[in-house]
Amino acid sequence: MDEFSFIDSIKQHSYKQSSLLKGIGDDAAVFRQPAQDIVTAVDTFVEDVHFSRKTMEPYHVGYRGLAANISDLAAMGASPTFYLVSIVIPKTWSMKDVDQIFHGMREIAAVYQMDLIGGDTVFGKELAVSITVIGYTERNKARYRSSARNGDIVFVTGTLGDSQAGMHILLNENKYENKDYYIKKHQKPLPRVDFAKALADLPRVALNDVSDGIANEASEIAVASGVSIHLYDEQLPISQSYQQFPLDLQRKWKLFGGEDFELLGTVAKESWLDVKEAAEKSQTPITKIGYVHYSVDEVGYVFLHDNKDRQLLQKDGYIHKK
Ligand code: ADP
Ligand code: MG
Repeated sequence: MDEFSFIDSIKQHSYKQSSLLKGIGDDAAVFRQPAQDIVTAVDTFVEDVHFSRKTMEPYHVGYRGLAANISDLAAMGASPTFYLVSIVIPKTWSMKDVDQIFHGMREIAAVYQMDLIGGDTVFGKELAVSITVIGYTERNKARYRSSARNGDIVFVTGTLGDSQAGMHILLNENKYENKDYYIKKHQKPLPRVDFAKALADLPRVALNDVSDGIANEASEIAVASGVSIHLYDEQLPISQSYQQFPLDLQRKWKLFGGEDFELLGTVAKESWLDVKEAAEKSQTPITKIGYVHYSVDEVGYVFLHDNKDRQLLQKDGYIHKK
């Protein structure tokens, strides 16, 4: 298949977003947005670096690739609207498999009425997919990592560690329970768009999505906001059958595993009831897991408390006494 018939095959026949003036088929796409703020992000996935065909079908590569990008928009409080896909196709991939990547993207795009409005197609040595997403927020309602303040409550949606557990199940001979649940969490994660949108009326909330592990995401908020973040180990939410995994793996995945695409956030105590209401409205499980503190010599630190003492959590996975 040549480049032109390929583009024709992935092109949408109609578009859902009324702000779109020109989609695929010209030199660039055009949309008009007079009132809201525009939020955009890009992520690139390379075969055997960011995914492997051992644990992902081409369909999942597309689904999960776009889901990860949508999760970034959710963490900004934005509504996903458009996406653009730049793809490098190697000779070793059949066009049928490449089409499955786009099929996976179309499926999750449909959930949010997102339109594919452009991209680039080239042939090369390794499969690489770069996805750009565009979303909207109400004016001045983008949610920043730098918004955490002393005394805030720290919360997280869903459960932690499931995606890594799913990958572990796919890569190892095992007799674990609820395999399908964990595998689905790995291959078809659900970004927390509805929850983030339900927070729209809050005057202030810091948000970050859990792509690299909660230790890392908490650290990013702590550094950006100039505060420290304190987490309670026993309160970190895990799935019912999570305790079947070896203890060291449980700990590693829930703190440093990532790719759960849950949202980690901080809000003022006075807003906590509103956050719980937003969670209920969007049917999102949510757990209070700690608090934000300011002290001049602990800026940027993340502490993990258990009933005995506290440890300094490093984002690279090393744990130091403090
Ligand atoms: P140009 O040479 O002007 O860059 P292209 O031939 O690369 O044009 O692309 C033609 C049209 O097809 C453009 O609208 C472009 O955005 C779209 N397009 C190309 N590749 C992709 C892709 N992988 N996904 C989505 N749209 C694509
Ligand atoms: Mg081009």
